[in-house]
Amino acid sequence: MEVKKLLDESNQYIMDTYKRFPVVMVKGRGMKLWSADGKEYLDFMAGIAVNILGHCHPRHVVAIQKQAQKLVHVSNLYHNEFQIKLAKLLCDYSFADRVFFSNSGAEANEAAIKLARKHSKGRFGVEKIGIITALNSFHGRTLATLTATGQPKFHVGFEPLLQGFSYVPFNDYEALKSAIDENTCAVMLEPIQGEGGVKMATDNYFKHVRDLCTRLGILLIFDEIQTGTGRTGTLFAYEQYGIEPDILTLAKGLGGGVPIGATLAREEVAKAFTAGSHGSTFGGNPLACAAALETLETLLEDGIMLSECRRMGEYFMDSLLKLQKQFPKVITDVRGKGLLIGMELTRDCSMVVQACFERGVLINCTAGNTLRFMPPLIVTEEDIDRLVTVLKEIMERLS
Ligand SMILES: *Cc1c(COP(=O)(O)O)cnc(C)c1O
Repeated sequence: MEVKKLLDESNQYIMDTYKRFPVVMVKGRGMKLWSADGKEYLDFMAGIAVNILGHCHPRHVVAIQKQAQKLVHVSNLYHNEFQIKLAKLLCDYSFADRVFFSNSGAEANEAAIKLARKHSKGRFGVEKIGIITALNSFHGRTLATLTATGQPKFHVGFEPLLQGFSYVPFNDYEALKSAIDENTCAVMLEPIQGEGGVKMATDNYFKHVRDLCTRLGILLIFDEIQTGTGRTGTLFAYEQYGIEPDILTLAKGLGGGVPIGATLAREEVAKAFTAGSHGSTFGGNPLACAAALETLETLLEDGIMLSECRRMGEYFMDSLLKLQKQFPKVITDVRGKGLLIGMELTRDCSMVVQACFERGVLINCTAGNTLRFMPPLIVTEEDIDRLVTVLKEIMERLS
């Protein structure tokens, strides 16, 4: 393969929406990726928190192969076995009673927003359409989810945005309380602000938010597109805060790499959607659902992957805290849950990401100064040691 030619044609034919590394990835296995020019990479990105089983996990590969030979797509005019099984599994393991399937995170949130509005209009009247989200949040790129995203930099050029959205600082309970009015129908939050720099909720914040929403008859939507499906060491992050949302959205890790989104809700909320209310041509098709079902069954089998995720998360966090002790002038904070970890620097971190890339390690930078690590849940101590060694080398050059 002529890499130079491919890169030139990529620049010529693909819309310029991504800042990409000049590399063509062709193969993956476990924690590793290989580029067309034969270089090997250790993947702590996992396709932005997507490949939770690692690349080409044998069970995932076989499930996709088997289903591709049987039935790839049928449309939602008919039932399909895997969509039913997947919905049942998600309900069995969560607070939810029903699921709507789509193809991405933005679509899962779009459905959550529509469901919240329809539910509240049906219950309280037409005026109840307001949705409050957090500043620094990220909820997607469609117009509704872009509006929900509390970061003005993503809005520029796409105005007018949707009506009825307002924003409050994350972790500021009083601000949320005063932002709520008689038109508010839902509060939408990420358990951990992933894109926003791995920002964690303070103690009891969600408990207070939950109580407030319950008291005022406002729906609580948890966007677990990044934190869900095992990423934080439990199947869903909400389990660790001692509360339950009314609506929960999933995507990223759910299909283990095959595009799928899901919107989960309690019966009383879900019933606002009736035949014709909402839909998706591809949502929940047999191939995507077979892949997602195998991903979740692998993840949940004997609880091993989840406990390993917690164990590796602790090992990872300890290693990074040790690194912080060595370089206190560069590293200001290490935080996270399970295998979603952020390391905040006193400086712009894109140079560190670039230096890691050159040394064959893939990581990511969010919010300008925070390195974000979200490896597959199969990551080992050895992989983490390798990353930390590389980071140490880079930090030494920086300080
Ligand atoms: C990635 C992400 C989204 C958007 O998902 P897409 O699949 O890119 O549409 C929404 N919310 C959160 C929290 C995310 O991390």
